[in-house]
Amino acid sequence: MYTSKTSTDAPNAASDRVNFKGFSFLGLVLMHLACLLVFWLDFSWTALAAYLVMLVLRTFALTAGFHRYFSHRSFQTGRLFQFVLGWLGTAAMQRGPLWWAAHHRHHHAHSDAENDIHSPVTRGFWWSHVGWILCRRYDETNLRLIPDFAKYPELRWLDRFFLVPPLLLALTLYGAGVWLNATFPALQTTGLQMVLYGFVLSTVTLYHTTFCVNSLTHVFGRRRFLTGDQSRNNAMVALLTMGEGWHNNHHFYPASARQGFYWWEVDMTWWTLRMLAWFGIVSHLHTPPAHVYAQRTRVTSQAAQNHP
Ligand SMILES: [Zn+2]
Ligand SMILES: [Zn+2]
Repeated sequence: MYTSKTSTDAPNAASDRVNFKGFSFLGLVLMHLACLLVFWLDFSWTALAAYLVMLVLRTFALTAGFHRYFSHRSFQTGRLFQFVLGWLGTAAMQRGPLWWAAHHRHHHAHSDAENDIHSPVTRGFWWSHVGWILCRRYDETNLRLIPDFAKYPELRWLDRFFLVPPLLLALTLYGAGVWLNATFPALQTTGLQMVLYGFVLSTVTLYHTTFCVNSLTHVFGRRRFLTGDQSRNNAMVALLTMGEGWHNNHHFYPASARQGFYWWEVDMTWWTLRMLAWFGIVSHLHTPPAHVYAQRTRVTSQAAQNHP
């Protein structure tokens, strides 16, 4: 799975294909089909709570962990919490932290250029949303793009055995459902119901909210800063992803742990990171300096078309 080759250095849109015979495609289809069980299994409020908790927890692990920490090093933390973020993020079934962050760093280095792996501007909605993930060409982790974290053996382990955290999560939810059913039958839970809501439905929701950052925020929204790409600030995506929709802000100043640059730009990940900083779990949260704010241009989406 690891490579020292330039597998992600020179993407080639003409030869990129979805691998319909691949394990990733099969898994994605099965996860979506499994959602249909919602029409057969009984509902319970406990299962809905499991859905929400697992969605929020893993969204945070992806936004704060995989994105703002592993990809951009926008704050600091200890090795234990680094692993916690890596484990929880990997439980989202979007591969491991090294794979995720290496491909994301490549996106920033080539945003909306010809060799951007998932630009909706050059490759369209479906490819940027999900197609690129199912392409054999991008299966490997280019460790040369992420040497700063590849030096940790526990992160390399997570990246290699990326199915272990999601499988353990599904098993834990199943056990919790069975135990609750036996101990508190009034809650009306079952093992399968907890797996469906806490794992399948929340994972598929998280797939698409995460994928929307790639497929929508380079097309729909407002541009505050003139960047060399088509990144946009999109409030709807920001709400769905705990702050990742402020994508034009982010492309202009990726080193910031805060992506909503103003109080009205809701960024739940940033607020959560601040709370964790009070407890000393994270530190050195990097924020945009004054000169970044001074460069706002209020370009409209129309003007952005003329001045990408
Ligand atoms: Zn982007
Ligand atoms: Zn980024």
